[in-house]
This record gives sequence, structure tokens and C-alpha cells, in this order.
Amino acid sequence: MTGTESARDRIDTSKPHPARVYDWYLGGKDNYPVDEQLGQHIMSIDPGARRAARSNRWFMQRATRHLVRAAGIRQFLDIGTGIPTEPNLHQIAQITAPDARVVYVDNDPIVLAHAEALLRGTRDGVTEYLQADAREPRRILEEAGRILDFDRPVALSLIALMHFIADETGAYEVVDTLVDALAPGSCLVLSAMTADFEPENVRRGIETYAKGGVTLVGRSHDEVSRFFKGLDLVEPGIVSVKDWHPDLAEGETPIGDGPVSLYGGVGFKA
Ligand code: SAH
Repeated sequence: MTGTESARDRIDTSKPHPARVYDWYLGGKDNYPVDEQLGQHIMSIDPGARRAARSNRWFMQRATRHLVRAAGIRQFLDIGTGIPTEPNLHQIAQITAPDARVVYVDNDPIVLAHAEALLRGTRDGVTEYLQADAREPRRILEEAGRILDFDRPVALSLIALMHFIADETGAYEVVDTLVDALAPGSCLVLSAMTADFEPENVRRGIETYAKGGVTLVGRSHDEVSRFFKGLDLVEPGIVSVKDWHPDLAEGETPIGDGPVSLYGGVGFKA
């Protein structure tokens, strides 16, 4: 891995970054006082925020398990990967399928600085990390094409990413461009924040992130469904991430009652 030292130099600790605030929610160590401050502030408005982060991480694990076990998926393009938090997606995939190939993409230099942890895969599998912005989907497809065979099924995973990309900056176009490039049998795994369950808390949370300079978008069920346009949804469809295939849970601990304000789903391309 090259570039990790310069990546460290590029970490801006003067304002909060989504990857680091999320790491703080998950109990990680790769965050700074500005991130913790925003996390604490959000928790004072919405005590469910940490629960939502954990629940989302588990959704990633359950969806990945489903794809490798039931759908035979062996290739993953994971955009908005986040700071490594064990088990990472490639670890879940490679337990079942040691030959699974995973390309991780994020635009935050802190993820690049920690990318080594994402690159320790199995002997037969491949994991690669690409520093890129989701709003450059064509570049991502081109570079990922060196590792992934886009003539065969690929799972495109956009987990807790799209709420950082507003409609005006091309959220739907990004997803359409990526999904269009996938072969039949491929799928989209997506989770995104919603204000449907707790409108007031989420509205205040969005305001607080905005003050920290971070754009956050809450989307309705219909708006999240639009990302899956033309795809066949796996049962139970688009639901709160905590309700998506609880049967596939492994090692999850109780998070208490109350809504989790992220929708998640998996849709296949015919
Ligand atoms: N997918 C992981 C991490 C979610 S946190 C999980 O669900 O557990 C969201 C991640 O998206 C952060 O790491 C952040 O840096 C990344 N991100 C936000 N906007 C992005 C963009 N425009 N391009 C690429 N990554 C982005």
C-alpha cells in the first residue's frame, strides 16, 4: 500500500468527518475530539444514533452473508467503506467464499490511512482499496475493472453512503451509472437514512451535521425505493435495517427497543 503517510497528513482534525463520527458511534479509536463532540451532540438530540450505527453495520454483515451463501456472489464493490471495523465486509464474504474479490472505495483520507486492515484477505481472494469519490462513478468502474470482472455478477454495496450525497449533486445518477454497468445476476445493497420514523430527531440531527459542515439527507421510503428502480427486491423489501433478515444475525448483541432510522434493502438485476 502506498500513500498512507501522505493520507495521514491530509486528515483534517479541525472539522468533523462522517467516517470518524461513525467510528466514534461504533466505539472505535480512529476519531478526533471534533468528531466526538458532534457525536455527543447528536446523541443528546437522538439517543438512538449509536444504536442506528451498530444496527447498520450488522445489516452490512447480514446482507453480505446472504449474498455469498444464498446468491453465490463472489465479487463486491463497496463504496463508502468507512474506517475498518472488524469484521469487515471481505472477512464476512471470505469466511464462506475464500476466493471472494472485494474492491473498497472511500474518499476520506483517514480510510486510506487505515486501508492496510482492509487489504488482509485470504490467499485465494483479493481485496483492493481505491481512494475515490462516489460522485465519479465512471472512474470507479474503470479502476475497479482491473480487479473485478464486470461481465459476471458483482454486488454493489452502498451502505450508509447515499445520505451524504444530495439529489442536487447527482445521487440518483451516481447509482444509475453504477447499476447500469453491472451484469445480470448482480445486485445493489443499499442503506440510507430516513426521517420517516422519527422526523423531529432526524431533522435536528441533520441541522447539527450541517453546522459541522456535513451534508446529510433523510429520504422517504419512496425516495430510497427509487435507488432500486428496475431491480427485483429480496424479501422483505426495503425496511428498517434492523428488520432485514434477522435470521442471518451472528454475534449481534441487543441494542434495545426503538426505531432505527435507516432503510436498507437488496435488489437483483434480472
Ligand atoms: N459503509 C460503512 C461505512 C459507512 S460511514 C458501513 O456502513 O459500516 C459512510 C462512509 O462514506 C464514510 O467512510 C465516508 O467517508 C464515506 N463517504 C461519504 N461521502 C462519500 C463520497 N462522496 N465518496 C466516497 N465515500 C464517501
